Amino acid sequence: MLEASQPAGNRQLANPPGFDPPGSQAFGPDLLHPDRCRVWLSQRLHPAGPACPHCRLPVPEAQRTRYLAWGRLQCPACGRWHRATTGTPLAGSKLAAPQAVLLIVLLGLPVSTARVAELAGVSAETVRDWRGRVLPEMTR
Ligand SMILES: [Zn+2]
Repeated sequence: MLEASQPAGNRQLANPPGFDPPGSQAFGPDLLHPDRCRVWLSQRLHPAGPACPHCRLPVPEAQRTRYLAWGRLQCPACGRWHRATTGTPLAGSKLAAPQAVLLIVLLGLPVSTARVAELAGVSAETVRDWRGRVLPEMTR
């Protein structure tokens, strides 16, 4: 009841144990849930829905969970292997899904290349590659 009796302007807002102030190194891709990031990215990579990149057969319902986990799938129609990133700008990317999501979000803000690289935990070269090649391909 102590808080309720204090005027709002006098209240001390102490940081709880483990809380890192803004600007600390704790902010980064590790705060994002990898599964949710993969789903979010998959929806942006394949707005028409998941399909085999080789023959365009929609990914069968039984393979959807594996598809959303970015696991390898064998197409039941053409027999070729693929995953959610095959044939997309993220094919061959070494970035974890949370890093990719954070990069996309940060690249939409007026933030310097160096700061984006620092926050997303990637190199400035990766930021320039995403700004110049990956994002334009994803929004085509
Ligand atoms: Zn196929």
